[in-house]
Amino acid sequence: MPVAQVPGVLSFEDARRAVEQQASQVRPPITESVDLLAASGRVLAVPVCADRDLPPFPRSSRDGYAVRAADLGRVPASLDVIGEIRAGESLENIPKLIGSGQAASIMTGAPVPAGADAVVMVEYTAQQGTRVEITRSITPGENVVPSGAEAKQGSVLVERGVRLNDAAIALAASAGQPRLLVYKRPQVAVLTTGDEIVDVGAIPGPTQIRNSNSYSVAVQIRNASGEPVLLPIAPDETLKLRALIEKGLRSDLLLMTGGVSMGRYDLVEQVLEDLKAEFFFTGAKIQPGRPIVFGKCGAGTPARESTGTYFFGLPGNPVSTMVTFELFARPMLEALAGLSPQKLRFVYAKLKSEIRVKPGLKRFLPAILSGEFEDTQVELVPWQGSGDIAATARANCYIVIPPDREFITSGEFVPIMRR
Ligand code: AMP
Ligand code: MG
Repeated sequence: MPVAQVPGVLSFEDARRAVEQQASQVRPPITESVDLLAASGRVLAVPVCADRDLPPFPRSSRDGYAVRAADLGRVPASLDVIGEIRAGESLENIPKLIGSGQAASIMTGAPVPAGADAVVMVEYTAQQGTRVEITRSITPGENVVPSGAEAKQGSVLVERGVRLNDAAIALAASAGQPRLLVYKRPQVAVLTTGDEIVDVGAIPGPTQIRNSNSYSVAVQIRNASGEPVLLPIAPDETLKLRALIEKGLRSDLLLMTGGVSMGRYDLVEQVLEDLKAEFFFTGAKIQPGRPIVFGKCGAGTPARESTGTYFFGLPGNPVSTMVTFELFARPMLEALAGLSPQKLRFVYAKLKSEIRVKPGLKRFLPAILSGEFEDTQVELVPWQGSGDIAATARANCYIVIPPDREFITSGEFVPIMRR
């Protein structure tokens, strides 16, 4: 490869850090206001703050009796019931003060009146007329959530840069925000390369392959808060490839698939070199996905001439494309989408059957999590290598194998990455 400035093939961790380092320098996109529900999955641009204390009043977390804990030093104890407080009870119906020897019947979610400092669960009580007998003592504060204990008025409930999930949307709802300001999705150009690749609707010749990578990548882009823009398939021909790459560089991010290996017609790197691209790495010691390329190029991008556009050359083998997107393209896209940096974290599962591999590469091999509840197990999916989309579709995770392991016994806990 006649590329002098190229830093070359990095370890997985160094390559990931190189992306994270670049990602930490990008600015978030412009914002738009959307309906609360439409904001689900989007990235929050302005923090959601509490418009009042949460809870706004000392809230009973049980059905029972609001009491003074000191009255239950000795049980059973008999107290005078001076009222009933339902959830949403109007202020004038709530006893002003629970005095010594007094209690009020109270429901979950109702405000605990002044004087009371605990709620005895109804299970430990028996009411007869206006008296209630209580059989359990209680410590002050039990079954009462003090006002402002969950959040103080004016405090941040959901930070900027968070992808809005169910809990975040619920918080925005509880803070009275029917619309939210979110970041616009960055436009991600998807350029697939290869003389053998034809469109989905075309009838492939005997040696041709339908384009599947543009579609898997487009789905991954959507999941990572981006908006995919599919470019026409680029042939393995320098001038046409260059024109399409220049077009792709006008997007917020360019993802190419194929044409980055060592073959005679793998032209992507050469074309980017001609366009004076800066390369951060041209490979990672991983499998699948070793030929992954990451860089930045200012050519053909009038709006971004100074800053340049980041690009990834993802390997063409379909499983390599999916894996390298997750490992490397995702953090950059998420940064461009305004998301706060996310560390890549693997979780552990028990290996069902032993694994033997050649050492030297960090591997991300398609695998199936099976079992149930706490008894989860994982095993490799039999596959024909990094072109095997069918095997990968049956997988629901990747087993992560460090480069120094050759043999992993069944029963060992191994790191996995969900897919
Ligand atoms: P390449 O990285 O260009 O050498 O491609 C590696 C393998 O991936 C070859 O077998 C290609 O046919 C296949 N491939 C490349 N691009 C695509 C695509 N868009 N959809 C499906 N397979 C592809
Ligand atoms: Mg190719």
